[in-house]
Amino acid sequence: MYIIRQWSVTHSRKLEAVYYFFEPLFIWLFPLWRLIGRERVEKPMRLLEKAAKNLIFDCQMCGQCVLSSTGMSCPMNCPKSIRNGPCGGVRLNGYCEVKPEMRCVWVEAWRGSQKMKRSEAIQQVQLPVNFSYRGSSSWLRVAEKEYTRQKSEDAA
Ligand code: SF4
Repeated sequence: MYIIRQWSVTHSRKLEAVYYFFEPLFIWLFPLWRLIGRERVEKPMRLLEKAAKNLIFDCQMCGQCVLSSTGMSCPMNCPKSIRNGPCGGVRLNGYCEVKPEMRCVWVEAWRGSQKMKRSEAIQQVQLPVNFSYRGSSSWLRVAEKEYTRQKSEDAA
């Protein structure tokens, strides 16, 4: 819902704190999920993630979440799905050229990012969307990626 999405941007710092509170827990739990079977865990995790993030961010389940770098404004709500900043069509009042009733998600991303502790994260260049991940859990993907990275660092 649009009004809740705007609330999320306004409260991006609190949501950032929630994210960084749960992230280590998800990474810590990853070996258990691997033991159970990633495919088995994927479905309940996907449903949980969808329920939570659809309500708060109008999440489109792209499977590669970048909210922590975009001020808690989901770039997949951009009609052009642009992942690295606004197009040239942002109106002077900060609204979208395609949906004039909606503020540009990147204007919102900047607003949210400036409230966050890691405000510089918005400068990171994001990879293009990999549509093969669509509909899958990005929480699980992040946990797997971070767990693997930490293990390889420990081994080095
Ligand atoms: S970036 Fe992707 S996973 Fe994150 S809220 Fe947006 S659609 Fe959902």
